[in-house]
Amino acid sequence: MAKILVLVVVVLLVAWLLIGRRRSPPDDAAAPPRSGRAKKPDPQALLACAHCGVQLPRAEALFDAAGRPFCSDAHRLAGPR
Ligand SMILES: [Zn+2]
Repeated sequence: MAKILVLVVVVLLVAWLLIGRRRSPPDDAAAPPRSGRAKKPDPQALLACAHCGVQLPRAEALFDAAGRPFCSDAHRLAGPR
């Protein structure tokens, strides 16, 4: 009797694991916040100054009209090199 009980518990555990695995991929694919976050530019992403090439976080970069990143206003006014 104990063997049957263990077998039932194992079968239920396997079924639960299989259902859990089947559910997780659609949840990942249909998660709009994650895809929305991916489209948003990462403020911590490093950009190279178009004038001197120094790496700086996107949040600290200055952009010219063409969207090129610069490390400072002086380099932005000097333009890309
Ligand atoms: Zn620069």
